Amino acid sequence: MSLVFDHVTLGQRVLFGSGKAAENVAAEVARLGASRVMVISSEFEMPMAREVAADLEVALWHDEVVMHVPVDVAERARAAAAGAGIDLIVSVGGGSTTGLAKAVALTTGVPIVAVPTTYAGSEATNVWGLTEGARKTTGVDDRVLPATVVYDAALTLSLPVEMSVASGLNGLAHCVDSLWGPRADPINAAMAAEGIRALAAGLPAIAADPQGLEGREQALYGAYLAAVSFASAGSGMHHKICHVLGGTFNLPHAQTHATVLPYVLAFNAPSAPEAAARIAAAFGTTDALEGLQALRDRLDAPRALADYGFTEDGIAEAVQVALPAIPANNPRPVTAAGLTALLRAALVGDDPKILTDELD
Ligand code: NAD
Repeated sequence: MSLVFDHVTLGQRVLFGSGKAAENVAAEVARLGASRVMVISSEFEMPMAREVAADLEVALWHDEVVMHVPVDVAERARAAAAGAGIDLIVSVGGGSTTGLAKAVALTTGVPIVAVPTTYAGSEATNVWGLTEGARKTTGVDDRVLPATVVYDAALTLSLPVEMSVASGLNGLAHCVDSLWGPRADPINAAMAAEGIRALAAGLPAIAADPQGLEGREQALYGAYLAAVSFASAGSGMHHKICHVLGGTFNLPHAQTHATVLPYVLAFNAPSAPEAAARIAAAFGTTDALEGLQALRDRLDAPRALADYGFTEDGIAEAVQVALPAIPANNPRPVTAAGLTALLRAALVGDDPKILTDELD
């Protein structure tokens, strides 16, 4: 990688501490001088939100959260925020909840204090996403970057192991894709490598001891690094494919990322030897794909898109929508045939190594 680059570091405060969310959120709301706080949290996440907001005066509680942020859901949240005259949003939940807070911030400019409860990483990016008519639109706007992220690993203890694994592999996908994203640079790569190391250490620890904080802290730390490197590098091939699978076919976000990642890695690695070497080193292996697959085996990770509702019939449309979105700088040229082969293999959970072979 050449040492000529243009890197932007996003300005955000990060407060990390298990069991400290309520205290840290209250301190941040005071520091930011807010008086009309809106708490966004899904119905399911709301008990966590009530704990986190225990020391706050809350002007508005909002619990209509839907994955991939449908436009009408965003509009209702924006109207509620405007009606209550809110001047700060505290979001407590997974990427869907953070995503709704971002949709409100996008049109109102109201700052967000984000308290993530999964490893999706949306809290550390300036990327927003909205879905309308089975098409997911994403955009970049610094107004949606939370002013503060409050990480509290204790809030993730309730995340079932299966969901923790899928969500953590979503974080891992941010790391891997940022090594060849359109704005990949050495700073992103350093953070991505440390993110892979932390997630590869944290996720097996969670599987072995789901109620232990150590693995959860490592995973959350890794998820943050993953998101920061991804926000800087931009969406690479992996994210372009997964956005189509999520937006057009409504597949679950984390599981889709977890399933597709080894296929994109197998596809790109031979054409991206430097990235592959970094990934391998971060896993402590000699081969990137072997490192990822060994971790996935240990974790009993999601294997086939068919298990999440994708079918053979969707492949042609997915290829048609995803292909033009894949960055031109992808290490290996992507053709319709190549992408079709990748999705076919991911659909049924074939060995990703078949993608390392030459495709036209
Ligand atoms: P999610 O937010 O939909 O959460 C998945 C499920 O886990 C939900 O049912 C939720 O209620 C539950 N949950 C959340 N925290 C929990 C906890 N601590 N214990 C038990 N259950 C819990 O899914 P996600 O994978 O976190 O986020 C996916 C969304 O985030 C997608 O829409 C994706 O596009 C978006 N995302 C955006 C960015 C970005 O930079 N803009 C980055 C990553 C993800």
